[in-house]
Amino acid sequence: MIYGVISDMHASLEALEAVLAELSAVERFLCLGDLVGYGPDPEACVERVRSLPGLVCIAGNHDLAAIGEFDLSWFNPYARAAAEWTAKQLSAGARQYLASLPRVERVRGAVLAHGALPDTMEYVTSCQEARLTFAEFDSPFCLIGHTHVAEVYRQREGSENCEQASLFSGGEVEAEAGLRYIVNCGSVGQPRDGNAKASYGIYDDEGQKVTVRRVEYPIGQVQEKMAKAGLPRSLIERLTAGR
Ligand code: ZN
Repeated sequence: MIYGVISDMHASLEALEAVLAELSAVERFLCLGDLVGYGPDPEACVERVRSLPGLVCIAGNHDLAAIGEFDLSWFNPYARAAAEWTAKQLSAGARQYLASLPRVERVRGAVLAHGALPDTMEYVTSCQEARLTFAEFDSPFCLIGHTHVAEVYRQREGSENCEQASLFSGGEVEAEAGLRYIVNCGSVGQPRDGNAKASYGIYDDEGQKVTVRRVEYPIGQVQEKMAKAGLPRSLIERLTAGR
């Protein structure tokens, strides 16, 4: 089975559509959370994701923030302002959908989490943090999001050693016997690894392979909508830099 892997759309409908156009032949999707927050189209993004075929979707911290289930004092003032704006845009149906999302899911060969394991609101940004997550799953792959940085951590069975590699320009991670992988396919709607292109993945559960790709999207259109909505300027500007 081939799955499209999308994460951290952050209410950027243009980025989401650009990615879905690349995945038009895919019949199953994995969504790793943060459908909303920061961007100008939260309701439309929730509806679009919900409509995807064969969808397995989990909640991110911004999804929970938008429905009042995540303490906004954890957010910086810009993220908080965006979360408060987002909460006002969502219909009862969208809120209900976000509230229904689990924190962790499993498909063949992979566990899905927004961030680290066992606490999926924590980040994996280093091998030190990756080691804690490796201790919490058995499958060859753990697919995560949350940092908006496309990268892979790998660890050999029975070893504490961990290696990290960037997937900044995309790339392939093919499972080798005796190794396990934490793969972050990057962010669709707000990349932060210095590459402004939308980032997404393809998971092949039979071939045990994750491919990460980048695609351009009309950043200016999203920025215009954000400005019209009165969203914070720093959130608008960071899309251009991919930071
Ligand atoms: Zn996010």
